[in-house]
Amino acid sequence: MLVVQKYGGTSVGDLDRIRNVARRIARYRDEGHDVVVVVSAMAGETDRLLKLAYNLVEEPSPRELDMLVSTGEQVSSALLAMALNAMGYSAKALLAFQIPIKTDELFGKARIRDVATARLKEEIANGNILIIAGFQGITDSGDITTLGRGGSDTTAVAIAAALGADVCEIFTDVDGVYTADPRIVPKARKIEKISYEEMLELASMGAKVLEIRSVEFAKIYGVPVHVRSSFTDEPGTMVVEEDESMEKVLVSGVAYNRNEARISLYGVPDRPGLAAKIFGTIADAGIVVDMIIQTGRPDGRADMTFTVPKTDYKATLKLVDKLAPELSIEKIEGDEDIAKVSIVGAGMRAHPGVAAKMFQVLADHGINIHMISTSEIKVSCVIDEKYTELAVRALHEAFGLDRAPEEETL
Ligand code: ASP
Ligand code: MG
Repeated sequence: MLVVQKYGGTSVGDLDRIRNVARRIARYRDEGHDVVVVVSAMAGETDRLLKLAYNLVEEPSPRELDMLVSTGEQVSSALLAMALNAMGYSAKALLAFQIPIKTDELFGKARIRDVATARLKEEIANGNILIIAGFQGITDSGDITTLGRGGSDTTAVAIAAALGADVCEIFTDVDGVYTADPRIVPKARKIEKISYEEMLELASMGAKVLEIRSVEFAKIYGVPVHVRSSFTDEPGTMVVEEDESMEKVLVSGVAYNRNEARISLYGVPDRPGLAAKIFGTIADAGIVVDMIIQTGRPDGRADMTFTVPKTDYKATLKLVDKLAPELSIEKIEGDEDIAKVSIVGAGMRAHPGVAAKMFQVLADHGINIHMISTSEIKVSCVIDEKYTELAVRALHEAFGLDRAPEEETL
């Protein structure tokens, strides 16, 4: 088997942990597998480097910033390879330019364009365990780039895709993906198997186990991803192509997001071009709008409600306040104390009534719904923030997630 493994910052956080990771890799090797490893920087290192730069100057030049923050992974990959070598295994650390992993020129959030496989294959054929520095890439003109925070996950999946690996194992400090945040729902269970689509919906909701771009990558190239703990040998969660067994599960997980705020515009003239103007202005400010609802009114005007990240709430209010007179918007109102609660499940495609059941569960608990949005495999409701825990727990129970999946009924 060819296995790509990625170890996160906590897993290589100190020398003892690096030794532990080396032992785990050695075990795979002893079982006869080819192993390619991708590492993050040691825990806290990327933050430390960023702080250095921002303490020095207000706006570090993006090219130099990438040259700086990419060094964290150079350190951890070299140390891990050394540890393996000292144990008698032939291991080699590689940086992105040595492979090369080519990216575009967007410093700080570069996208991988190509992973060359010739050198990788040659080194593997020569019996080397490869320890690749995650998070970094190289442009056509030879400049170092980084892929954005958490980018080592994407490096690992990209390497696994390029090499056609049998599995990409993401070792982290949690033991898998859960049916809900275990801090809120003590009965939350580890999910054995989840589809890429479900994982994307859960990840975008803040179930931050895998970096979202790595899941998109895995989906496009069909890379099976195994999210698991580097502190145990227990299997974690497999993220794979959807199969029939998944369709039987109505709801795979309940997610919540408290990082958004709601803004409502009342009495917007119902004319072509107004939504384009409003949301164009917000987008130009680099603010990402999530849910949008427009309702017509009998008086020929419309009400519009949308959500933005809490951190952009004040800036967005300022923007729409400025537009209000020009567009003759009657009233603007907002609320920061909201939460978005979502249920996600591949089985929703085949089973009607899931959304209705969600609304009923919320109603039974006296929770008012402010906004609703749906996709094929997700239903989201915006509610008052103070009901977040109650809603998540009630939905978790009502959709049978407190029990094993086989027992589930609608
Ligand atoms: N070291 C980088 C970060 O902290 C990349 C990663 O850990 O995946 O964001
Ligand atoms: Mg990380």
